[in-house]
Amino acid sequence: MSSTTKDYYEILGVSKDASQDEIKKAYRRLARKYHPDLNPGNKEAEQRFKEINEAYDVLGDPKKRAEYDRLGHQAFTSGYEGFEGFKDFDFASNFDFGGFGDFFSDLFGERTTFREAPLKGADLVMRMTLTMEEAFSGVTRPINVSRHITCPRCGGRGAESYDRCSRCGGTGKVGTRKGFFSITQTCPDCGGSGRRAIRFCTECRGSGTLLKTETVKVKIPAGVDTGSRVKLSGMGEAGRNGGPAGDLYIEIEVLPHPFFRRDGSDVYVEVPVTVPEAALGAKIEVPTLDGLTKMTLPPGTQGGQKFKLKGKGFPLPKGGGRGDQYVIVKIVIPKELDSKGRALISKMEELYRENPRERLVSRRW
Ligand SMILES: [Zn+2]
Ligand SMILES: [Zn+2]
Repeated sequence: MSSTTKDYYEILGVSKDASQDEIKKAYRRLARKYHPDLNPGNKEAEQRFKEINEAYDVLGDPKKRAEYDRLGHQAFTSGYEGFEGFKDFDFASNFDFGGFGDFFSDLFGERTTFREAPLKGADLVMRMTLTMEEAFSGVTRPINVSRHITCPRCGGRGAESYDRCSRCGGTGKVGTRKGFFSITQTCPDCGGSGRRAIRFCTECRGSGTLLKTETVKVKIPAGVDTGSRVKLSGMGEAGRNGGPAGDLYIEIEVLPHPFFRRDGSDVYVEVPVTVPEAALGAKIEVPTLDGLTKMTLPPGTQGGQKFKLKGKGFPLPKGGGRGDQYVIVKIVIPKELDSKGRALISKMEELYRENPRERLVSRRW
């Protein structure tokens, strides 16, 4: 195993009565100097690095160091069966991960916190379909929401009592060797928390969350349109590690209406009128999203003419009044005529003083 005749004190360059602190400092200084990452392709550095780690594995541990002092270098490194831990001594598996992890974070000037940070819970999205009238007036509607909430019994911790994680010793991180490279990573046993549950919470059985289905009354404000999202803060999935819950978004779909057509905050409606109403003028009733309203058609109203009913549209977003309603006139002609009707209509011909297509046909093409 040992490829050197130097004893471990010589390798680390410390005296036999060096304190544990002095040994640790010496190890760190040498490990920095001979680390393979800093000496790529340098076989000698690689060998030194291996020796340094082998020496520190023993001298860094007071129990192993005492055994080493008692037996002497030769006896220790030639395989002494009575020494616990020595028979399967191996550079890779007995490496001092704690020390090496510290060394790494020192070297790169970062001290990562491995305990998990509070995380906001996931957002939820639900769809809601409204009629145009509901979108216009706003609506309060009950919905069933199924989501995970933080367990009220354990506050999301999942356990009633804890022990220190034995794998990482409570630090939440472990080292993994890949050849001469070492990576410090989150402890897989405790997920970085550094602790292990002894007794799970009886309410959530250790998960820290409970599935809750509840009926919530959602108030949809007036004026929403297809694609609008209404946010219910904190009604999403439970947060982790004490983080806040996510939000619930209600995504709105507004159904088409049989006769109202919406364009932003404006509303369009086609209103059929009779020939006498259009020709003579009339006061007619027209529908709005508020209900019926009266409007005056002037004499000589034409088919397709557009009238504006100010402030009769949808509420403007962010308050401040309403859009407009546009009434588009559609002149309706009687479809079936008896002889009397035909006589009446043909008499109307006299009323047109000029050919209505005059402008279209006046030119020779
Ligand atoms: Zn752990
Ligand atoms: Zn619980």
